[in-house]
Amino acid sequence: MFKNSIQIGKIWGIPLKIHYSFLIILPFLAWAFGNNIQLLAEMVEIPLTSLGANPYLLGFFMALALFASVALHELAHSIVARGKGVKIHSINLMLFGGVAQMDHIPEDPRDEAMIAFAGPMLSLVLGGLLIGGTAILGGVLVADIQLLFMYLGWLNLFLAVFNMIPAFPTDGGRVLRALLARKMSFLKATKIAANIGKVFAFFLGILGLLTVNFIMIFVAFFIYIAASQEYQTIFIKNTLADFSVSDLMTHDVRVVDEDTLVSELLDRMFVERHSGYPVVSNGEVTGCVTMGDVRKIDPERHSQTRVREIMSRDIVKVDPDEDIFIALRKLSQDDLGRLMVMREDQLVGIITRTDIMKGFRLREMQEQG
Ligand SMILES: [Zn+2]
Repeated sequence: MFKNSIQIGKIWGIPLKIHYSFLIILPFLAWAFGNNIQLLAEMVEIPLTSLGANPYLLGFFMALALFASVALHELAHSIVARGKGVKIHSINLMLFGGVAQMDHIPEDPRDEAMIAFAGPMLSLVLGGLLIGGTAILGGVLVADIQLLFMYLGWLNLFLAVFNMIPAFPTDGGRVLRALLARKMSFLKATKIAANIGKVFAFFLGILGLLTVNFIMIFVAFFIYIAASQEYQTIFIKNTLADFSVSDLMTHDVRVVDEDTLVSELLDRMFVERHSGYPVVSNGEVTGCVTMGDVRKIDPERHSQTRVREIMSRDIVKVDPDEDIFIALRKLSQDDLGRLMVMREDQLVGIITRTDIMKGFRLREMQEQG
């Protein structure tokens, strides 16, 4: 999901990334704001005639300021999370708002509630300051700036209110889960919070259909999917809780040498029924090669090309003592087929999604037996 993102900077050491979808929505928002400038001006009671700037230029700044607000909202989550000992990988701005990529959810539900609460609180305060400040300073500011600040203030208030709806995956949903988790297991709390999110999404979707509001239908769809995904993630995490990578990995690792011909590699793939191998050179792991790499070259060249020419050199590895869930996350984040399990620089195994599924079946059998 975050692969197609570019880093634009760092705030307090946290990388700020924007997704390509953001580049699509930005001009669209600028256009939408610019097109509706009359409506916006009426809303915040500023006469249209007093505006000097081009409405679309104003719309562009509005769109930028909105995303800055979203980034600040995520930053508030991140700062509180960091205070609770949670590592923040990055803040990602996307088509629909932002996400702070956290390393894990804190054990203590109260900590999760505080982290979830921080975002909407910031939006609320920011919205209040913008609206209040503009109202007080009104006369001093140019009408264009007044409009910008005033409307941005309302957008921030909307952000605060929307996020506090207790429908997972919103912040309000997280607060709700944290409150529920004090009385029951985390899994059950997630299930209830996710179900509330789905019911909410369902009604929002119906409302969207009745009023022919496509944005509403889209948001409803998004909430529904995200709520289901969150429950699935927690369910998987819970089921796999006691496994480490070394419990489920394949110990007997087959490797290929960089000098192997692609035609030989293909023969091995068919015989051994593996679609990817770690590549070694002088006993050291240098990368990996998969069926996908083989497909990139013309079949006529298979018998003249060496593995070294088509292999991928980034080694995505995991420690054998790591939780299996970390391995699963790495696999899905980068959409990989396999991870190399390495202790220090020594290859000790390979782990694939199929291996992780074994863990599921084992647990199922345990529960039945
Ligand atoms: Zn939030």
